Amino acid sequence: KFSSAHRLGFGSTNPTGKIPLGLKRKGLRIVVTGGAGFVGSHLVDRLIARGDSVIVVDNFFTGRKQNVMHHFGNPNFELIRHDVVEPLLLEVDQIYHLACPASPVHYKFNPVKTIKTNVVGTLNMLGLAKRVGARFLLTSTSEVYGDPLQHPQKETYWGNVNPIGVRSCYDEGKRTAETLTMDYHRGAGVEVRIARIFNTYGPRMCIDDGRVVSNFVAQALRKEPLTVYGDGKQTRSFQYVSDLVEGLMRLMEGEHIGPFNLGNPGEFTMLELAEVVQETIDPNAKIEFRPNTEDDPHKRKPDISRAKELLGWEPKVSLRKGLPLMVSDFRQRIFGDHKEGSN
Ligand code: NAD
Ligand code: UDP
Ligand code: UDP
Repeated sequence: KFSSAHRLGFGSTNPTGKIPLGLKRKGLRIVVTGGAGFVGSHLVDRLIARGDSVIVVDNFFTGRKQNVMHHFGNPNFELIRHDVVEPLLLEVDQIYHLACPASPVHYKFNPVKTIKTNVVGTLNMLGLAKRVGARFLLTSTSEVYGDPLQHPQKETYWGNVNPIGVRSCYDEGKRTAETLTMDYHRGAGVEVRIARIFNTYGPRMCIDDGRVVSNFVAQALRKEPLTVYGDGKQTRSFQYVSDLVEGLMRLMEGEHIGPFNLGNPGEFTMLELAEVVQETIDPNAKIEFRPNTEDDPHKRKPDISRAKELLGWEPKVSLRKGLPLMVSDFRQRIFGDHKEGSN
């Protein structure tokens, strides 16, 4: 059994369990599941820069070694090819649990696998957290609100989810993951944190993952028409990845369980997003309408009052500021010298 005396982290040094932000300290041992993916790899960069030891656990379904390759050779970094659906034994202080495909195209590819990842994968990581006394953070999603009847969405809203639809492997999977997280907290005393992440974009997104920002940016760069699904009047709120990573770290280190909405309240219709992409990349880019996908949520916008008040967090990067940062990465990966993910 892993005793707290052996822990490098604050669990052993601070009896209140609170981690004072900004205090000089020894590195923690942290697992990031899904750490070779888009969000995970940016989180890993911040944790390594802070002086922590990071173990990335990833099965490379949608993640890529290129996203974390710049840490190879660093003794504080380890990469394990592992599927979280299988049990895993590690000794760590914190677990950031991100492993799960996030793009609808990816999570619908093998829906049963998506459910297993969310349910069995989360169960395993909670079992690990319980065994070693690690703090566990779940990256849940705004999709738990489904096609919301409340706008903007507050954390107190229980959502409007179709349990038998094509998106439910993800939506219901994440809802169950939240349930498991709370039950391990209530039943086994595991220290848990829940983030509900809203649409996030930035460098290292998969170029052809079918998400709207990556699609529009890649299409504009390739001089292809921007594919707007449906009438383009549906809305989303787009958050730049560095804002999300800051929010996740504050949540992990703070004293509140959540759930917390982490997103940028700036709301855009898909047609407005297409205009911003035109302004940023190519004013002559054409728009092409395509049929929308099934059960597509009509509106989505986070109410972030809770995160503002309790985590002292709010996004800093607007869509017009963040988009160019992603465009340079995409331009390099589409036309460049194949240094994928080096950004
Ligand atoms: P991503 O697809 O880039 O990253 C997911 C990572 O998990 C990949 O590296 C993938 O290989 C890995 N993975 C998937 N299944 C696995 C398994 N069974 N075992 C081990 N590894 C596995 O997606 P992302 O955008 O970086 O999302 C990260 C997390 O944030 C996900 O849990 C997602 O649900 C959540 N989230 C993201 C967004 C967003 O807009 N990016 C929004 C809401 C929630
Ligand atoms: N588990 C794991 N790593 C650990 C501890 C547990 O992967 O370090 C897995 C374990 O195999 C089980 C799940 O987590 O499938 C839940 O574990 P728990 O101890 O809560 O439940 P039990 O094993 O009693 O079903
Ligand atoms: N969408 C679009 N064109 C695309 C891809 C997506 O208009 O090429 C729309 C999609 O119908 C949805 C919105 O953009 O209304 C966001 O889709 P995405 O897959 O990025 O994320 P999610 O639906 O999970 O929010």
